[in-house]
Amino acid sequence: MIATALPFAAASTPKILTYYNFNSPYANVDWDTYGQYKANLHTHTTVSIDSSEPVRNMVEGYYGAGYDIVAITDHANTSKDWDKYTSAQGAVTAERANQIANGEGRDGKAMIQIPLCNEQNGLSNHVLSYFADYNAGLLASNYNTALQNVNNRDGFSFFAHPGRYTSAPATQAQINNYANFFLQYPNSAMGYEIFGVNDGETRNERILWDRTLMITAPQGKNVFGISNDDAHSTSAIARSGWTMFVMPENTVENIKTAMGSGMFYASAMMAIDEGLDARNSGLPTPIINSIKIDDNIITVEGEYYDRIDWIADGKKIATGNTIDLVEYKDEIGSYLRFQLVGEGGISWANSILLERVDVKLVNTVAEASVKKLTGNQNELTITITETYEHDKTNIITATFMINNNAAGTYQVEEYKVYVDTKGNTQIRACYIVEDCKIKIEPEADENNSIIIVKASVEKTLGNTNKLTITVTDELGNDTEETFTIDNNIAGTYQIGEYKVYVDTKGNDQTLACYITQ
Ligand SMILES: [Zn+2]
Ligand SMILES: [Zn+2]
Repeated sequence: MIATALPFAAASTPKILTYYNFNSPYANVDWDTYGQYKANLHTHTTVSIDSSEPVRNMVEGYYGAGYDIVAITDHANTSKDWDKYTSAQGAVTAERANQIANGEGRDGKAMIQIPLCNEQNGLSNHVLSYFADYNAGLLASNYNTALQNVNNRDGFSFFAHPGRYTSAPATQAQINNYANFFLQYPNSAMGYEIFGVNDGETRNERILWDRTLMITAPQGKNVFGISNDDAHSTSAIARSGWTMFVMPENTVENIKTAMGSGMFYASAMMAIDEGLDARNSGLPTPIINSIKIDDNIITVEGEYYDRIDWIADGKKIATGNTIDLVEYKDEIGSYLRFQLVGEGGISWANSILLERVDVKLVNTVAEASVKKLTGNQNELTITITETYEHDKTNIITATFMINNNAAGTYQVEEYKVYVDTKGNTQIRACYIVEDCKIKIEPEADENNSIIIVKASVEKTLGNTNKLTITVTDELGNDTEETFTIDNNIAGTYQIGEYKVYVDTKGNDQTLACYITQ
């Protein structure tokens, strides 16, 4: 049985429900079937002025270390296929390049090369770029020239070790400057190198990352975190940080899609500000196994971690596998990110962008059902369905042990619900009452646009009473009808288009009065 909410149950200040709209970079990830692919996106060879390591040594070094994806990012030089370098540069042979692409000696686990990579090389503005046939030239570029040209070629770029050029941490003017680039090239400028080498130049990048997100996230632009070796020789390979791609399979196309959408996370064996250095520990680095978003709750599963920190607007607001955003709504702005910290290192997930929505309660419905147990004992279940704006609902359920033919008022969270039962399992009445006030004479409130029903009984002669029912519609129009009734009568009466249930006690009391459906 369903009864509409009694009109006076609508509070003068409506109850608010908060919910979030999520924009997660991992929204399309199928965590059960996708693979995780380890990448170094910042690799130098002898082609760079500050490295003397042949291309083949770097490629073989990463292949031997089990990497799945490598980008050669020499200064002011756009990368070629690994077998297309000169012999002086240490080209990989065509045969060997083919073996690596087929995972020979690694059970078919290929290592994929990202095409057309470059460390666009200004004096104080290194930009790493991918999938873009553009080379700014040595010491010839500035941030905007590099970013704009990569953008125009549908490539991706991110800022390499920005901490080398900023005070620690970056000033607000520097942060604004970076944020403007992300907003100017939203499809191309993808993030920051939040970890590199020994974290000396990058330790403040996580602060820069958060402070940039505080500007861009409210405008819908995510900024991703990338972790790299920035290796200039084989001795630096797999010695510090990497980026883990989460993809259906390891292909160039999937890598491009993942770079654009942020389907990856950054890992490192150390982080100065976390007091963490596991580079010689041999312990595994934290892995993210799944991210689930259900209603307003995010749940993360992983391995090799001791704790999960949740970070909003640059502050750690919670720890644990799960966070209920509504619980932290006063501390959460437009994004939330998390990091897994363990003895073997740290992994930083990309941010989930958030839009908080507050909606008002518009309707409350109480329903009751009874289950017969043994003898005189029954179990009453009361379900309150709150309906808010945007069709958001909140359901509250409570159970009570009752006897046969029980009538009474039950507390279900903040609601008092009157339920009248018949026999074992029938419901005669079920409605919300306010502070146990059984006599119902609510005041009209036109602002709430609700239908108001009033009933009163007046003793006339002997067993005969006069029942007056008034229905006030949304526009404030009254419809009134009178009926002659006996003592202790309950019944349904037609008032215009409304059916009104009224339960009376004695000669002049009303126990219940509401519109039925
Ligand atoms: Zn650099
Ligand atoms: Zn570099």
